[in-house]
Amino acid sequence: MDMICINCPKGCHLSIEKDGDGWNIQGYACERGKAYALSEMTDPRRTLTSTVKIKDGTITRCPVKTSAPIPKDMVRDAAKSLDSVTVIAPVKVGDVIVANVLGTGSDIIATRNIAKA
Ligand code: SF4
Repeated sequence: MDMICINCPKGCHLSIEKDGDGWNIQGYACERGKAYALSEMTDPRRTLTSTVKIKDGTITRCPVKTSAPIPKDMVRDAAKSLDSVTVIAPVKVGDVIVANVLGTGSDIIATRNIAKA
């Protein structure tokens, strides 16, 4: 399998093949690329960025993200779960909006300060 490392702008082209119980990974220029390739093959994860409704704030949506990457196949459900979330202003960067989203161990946190209107 071929993929491009997304960890920095260099965009190394990675080549990954199963090698017995492990993986033969070629093309990385640093260890982050090797770790990324291994993660993609064994436990792919993504950071979810989205917004939730906010009441009594200076804007109507509060930008949020996961505090740590979550399993890639749970991102869609995690995003959907935010449809029913409404927070009350004020909100500060880093406030936990949803703890342990879908049992992933990652929280949904605010990424913007929003004052009360
Ligand atoms: S392998 Fe290292 S240098 Fe290459 S794109 Fe990934 S992070 Fe950047």
